[in-house]
Amino acid sequence: MLTAGQILQLIRKGTCRTRKELIEYTGLSRSTITDRVDRLIDAGYIHESGVGVSGGGRPPSVLDVDATRRLLLVADLGASHARVALTDLAARPMAEERAEMRIELGPDAVLSWVREAFQRMLDRAGRPTGDVCGVGLDLPGSVDHATGRAIRSFLMPGWDDHPVGEAIGSMFDVPILVENDANAMALGEWWSSWRGTDSLILIKVSTGIGTGIVLDGQIYRGVEEAAGNIGHVRLRETDDRVCTCGSRGCVASLASGHALATDLGMTSSRDVVRLVHAGDPGAIARVQEAGRTLGVVLATAVSLLNPGVLVLAGDMAQTREHYLTGIREVVYRRSLPYTTRNLKIVTSSLGDRAGIVGMAVIVMEHVLSPASVDAALAARSDAAS
Ligand SMILES: [Zn+2]
Repeated sequence: MLTAGQILQLIRKGTCRTRKELIEYTGLSRSTITDRVDRLIDAGYIHESGVGVSGGGRPPSVLDVDATRRLLLVADLGASHARVALTDLAARPMAEERAEMRIELGPDAVLSWVREAFQRMLDRAGRPTGDVCGVGLDLPGSVDHATGRAIRSFLMPGWDDHPVGEAIGSMFDVPILVENDANAMALGEWWSSWRGTDSLILIKVSTGIGTGIVLDGQIYRGVEEAAGNIGHVRLRETDDRVCTCGSRGCVASLASGHALATDLGMTSSRDVVRLVHAGDPGAIARVQEAGRTLGVVLATAVSLLNPGVLVLAGDMAQTREHYLTGIREVVYRRSLPYTTRNLKIVTSSLGDRAGIVGMAVIVMEHVLSPASVDAALAARSDAAS
């Protein structure tokens, strides 16, 4: 027998739009469907509105997700910036704030800014904390998705093992999801542009190199939450350059924005982007070469997973396609034509909003999942009795 949470999925996907369609589709009795639907309406998940296709007589009401009664709060933290958003339950942004902020300031300073920004957005929207039903935050490093702790990151000194979820959760009594930034970006790109494709790999190349993998519409994290860590594959073990991880010859030490900036005598990956935009031939050649170097590892990833899309994001996506061209060249040359026949290799369409969009979708999907909805409804009826 389908639960209320499962009934909600039929309404969300547009499989059933009226009580009558639910009865016909599920084979459940009218009283069971009425019970499930009424509980979903009372709890604010759905509402009845509009007019359905009528077979004569009074037109039936159309059931739809009520996106306005409940809200989501999300944050996207990069190495040097932070972005927060307040969205409705359909992950549509209602307010957004961005700040230059270095993650190396540490968790206390960064997370207190996030908490203040969350409160500011709620105050401006005139909405109470109680309207928030899910919170999410992504970080530029590995996270333990289950416990909401930062695991380790070479970009995030001082964050090791920090209970990020708890630090934000003190403000809210709702699910708090913590995610790696490339994972969030991958899901954001998939959701906004590639939902017709089962699988997508996103490579973020800014200061470092990160990867997010979406398989069958879900983030693939791996058993140690380390899936996608291709930046530290050691391509040239005898190379002189020491990587941020301490090894030699990692892809990141050859092809990251940091590596390029060092080679070109600059400070940051954004300086490299500026050189390319100014038409500096040395910088353009070096950027293409870096794309080819990363392409070697990506050819393996593409051969292994046969994704529909490879998305380049981060600062190197803004090098007038020079980095992308290097990747394309090598991935196509080193893979079976059969594997790459329908592969699209593109730059990010959401740019620096990919993380925040993905995080909102991750929280929405969690909050509206059958298990979460059924647990929330059970808690409501416990509280009522
Ligand atoms: Zn490394």
